[in-house]
Amino acid sequence: MSEMKKIRMGEASFNYSPETAYEKNGNVYCNTCHEQINGEVVNMMGTWMCFRIQCQCEKEEEKRWKERERVMRVNQLKDTCFTNPKQRNYTLDKCLISNEKTIGVVSNYIKKFDEVRKKNVGLLFFGEVGSGKSYLAAAIANAVMEEYEITCKMRNFSQIINDLQSGGFDLDKNRYIDSLVRTPLLILDDLGIERNTPYALEQVYNIINGRSLQGLPTIITTNLSLEDIKNHTESIELKRIYSRVLEMCIPVLVSGADIREQIHKKKIQESRELLL
Ligand SMILES: [Zn+2]
Repeated sequence: MSEMKKIRMGEASFNYSPETAYEKNGNVYCNTCHEQINGEVVNMMGTWMCFRIQCQCEKEEEKRWKERERVMRVNQLKDTCFTNPKQRNYTLDKCLISNEKTIGVVSNYIKKFDEVRKKNVGLLFFGEVGSGKSYLAAAIANAVMEEYEITCKMRNFSQIINDLQSGGFDLDKNRYIDSLVRTPLLILDDLGIERNTPYALEQVYNIINGRSLQGLPTIITTNLSLEDIKNHTESIELKRIYSRVLEMCIPVLVSGADIREQIHKKKIQESRELLL
């Protein structure tokens, strides 16, 4: 690094590096953007001083730093949110669902998330297998993390039950449940549990009920029909879970062509274009 140069500014002096700045008619300018970098001369508790002001290049550099930091924070949020890394890239733009009403609900949910959060509005995505319910839920999580930098978690129901039933002594179950209860936005994927112990269902109920008490929004996806959920009678434990879900979540039908089928077709089409 070359030596700093010093020039007088009225009662004060100003230091700059001749490698990055130059002096002209008593002021100092940036070599690159030619903006003035010396500020006004001010009196600080009896001493005259001249502080450096940011030029265009420095403002842009700062912006780039802030953006890099933001991307890092969002990546950390995504690490916590997803157990399936593919879901990090799911966005509403890339979504293959063409049902305008469904897409409208989802984009409003994202746009008005501050209010959604305040009013504790949840969503229940129902519809056939492969209709894109999990995709939509993951797309909401991605948008909420990117636009609001809010912590989200997306977990599969059977995974939770599996963890709780087979976690052994290593798993602190209360802490596990508590961490799901306290997550600002929780997505519970694939509700529709078949073989479960009353104990596991009790824990699932505790998670959902806990979120209701905390006033935190929950998004749930299920292959069950709305009728199945509304009119379930077989198990008291499930009935209790379902009725809580219906209190907390607005049902949204996700329908249309089989999204996996469409992805498959798109892939084949792309392969064709590549080779033929
Ligand atoms: Zn500059």
